[in-house]
Amino acid sequence: MINVAREKRKVTIVGGGPVGSLSAIFLSRRGFHVDLYEARSDIRNQKNAKGRSINLSLSLRGLSALKKAGLDERIKAIGIPMHARYIHGSNGNHYEIPYGKKGQFLLSTDRLELNRQLLSAAEKCDNVNLHFQQKLIRCDARIPTATFEESGHFKTHQTTLIVGCDGTNSTVRSSMLRGKMDFSQKHIEHGYKELVIPPNPEGDYALPPNFLHIWPRHEFMMIALPNLDKSFTCTLFMPMRNYDKIKTKSDVLAFFQYYFTDAIPVMGEEMLKESFFAIAPLPLITIRCRPYHYGGTAVIMGDAAHAVVPFYGQGLNSGLEDALLFDDIMEEYSSDLERVLPAFSDLRVDSGHGIADLSLYNYMEMRSHVATPWFLLRKKVDSMLHHLLPSAFIPLYSMVTFSRIPYDEVIRRSRKQDMIVDNAIITIGCSGLALCVYGCYKIYKKGLVGNLDTVRGCRQWLTRYFIR
Ligand code: FAD
Repeated sequence: MINVAREKRKVTIVGGGPVGSLSAIFLSRRGFHVDLYEARSDIRNQKNAKGRSINLSLSLRGLSALKKAGLDERIKAIGIPMHARYIHGSNGNHYEIPYGKKGQFLLSTDRLELNRQLLSAAEKCDNVNLHFQQKLIRCDARIPTATFEESGHFKTHQTTLIVGCDGTNSTVRSSMLRGKMDFSQKHIEHGYKELVIPPNPEGDYALPPNFLHIWPRHEFMMIALPNLDKSFTCTLFMPMRNYDKIKTKSDVLAFFQYYFTDAIPVMGEEMLKESFFAIAPLPLITIRCRPYHYGGTAVIMGDAAHAVVPFYGQGLNSGLEDALLFDDIMEEYSSDLERVLPAFSDLRVDSGHGIADLSLYNYMEMRSHVATPWFLLRKKVDSMLHHLLPSAFIPLYSMVTFSRIPYDEVIRRSRKQDMIVDNAIITIGCSGLALCVYGCYKIYKKGLVGNLDTVRGCRQWLTRYFIR
């Protein structure tokens, strides 16, 4: 139950990205008066605006959060279902790695369109005011107050709760660092560059559309996700020092001819050479902090709390799940912020660190492991075991992407499963080898090799021991 005093409480959300907009919807439904401040102008007025990571994959966690807000069907309508990973080998071969059980799917979604829809849904809620081109300059979680800059003017607002959904370089988080917060950030040596595969001359997709395309090349990789306009957004992930070696248009072409030969005809040679130098490679960062709250007055969510490298496609999914779980806790503690905020940190911090580790691990898997026979064997064994024991054995990828198991728990379960499966495979392999050695020894002992009539001897031995 929400009492009258609580209904008048004010929430200041900083950041009008997907996580901030969804949080605005949930908080307004709990009777709070919500002011959402966004530093940029309203992206709904810039229909052709292209921003960072135009296309991203949305999976169960993100979709569950959208479902609670009643927006999942609308978002599914602007997404492309994806059924499997499509691996482009270096020798021109390709194969598919299915995601798992039927009915589990990813959506390739236009990030900006998703953001637009969430902003519009938030705007329609009672007690939500959206403020654009207002940048948070500083906040004080102790009072709490937040100071915004708009066209050179500064305004300070008093509020009840500050929710920092202001992304990787969060100002809210910076202000909370003055309290008791542990914080670390780490850049990986790899950066990313976005390229485009346009529609083919017939106006259709140039590659099979319902797949996450991956070109694993061990030290680096390229991926492609489909867009609704029949193009693909390609992302090349590579060490920064490798980008530095590509200086001219002919270097670009030579590089692609060597590593991504099949991508050149679909990208278009000229377009590739032009677009490669259009923007510098962007850095990739992991941010970890603990806790995610300050007293009962400030909390951070999404990239502000746990920016991760994008290799599991979980950055946004985990951010939307933050908003969903925060709302669940609000329900549980009747919106008592003094209890809700610590409970949110307790529930989410280890999970946030978990997805940071998983995302770093998955880069190795995507750029290197997917191209190895051991990985393919493990995938087969994993899906067979999952088929036989659907709830006891869930492959790592499925736990991350198609379940709501906390990420830190995913790591623990996956380690246990790996130990069991690897040991079983090694035991079966060693037993097979031991059996062979034993068979050869038996043949030798029986004098079959000694008789020099090996073929007849083997036949006899096989008949005696196995065929009969
Ligand atoms: P943001 O989207 O960064 O939004 C923060 C908002 O706060 C912005 O609008 C910003 O303008 C505003 N802001 C910042 N500072 C201030 C301030 N001082 N005052 C007011 N406003 C401010 N995730 C997935 O789930 N699946 C994927 O497939 C995927 N692919 C990715 C691919 C790449 C290459 C990258 C880089 C990321 C990918 N992600 C993916 C991650 C995803 O994009 C982010 O996790 C997600 O956008 C985070 O949402 P957010 O709302 O927390 O932060």
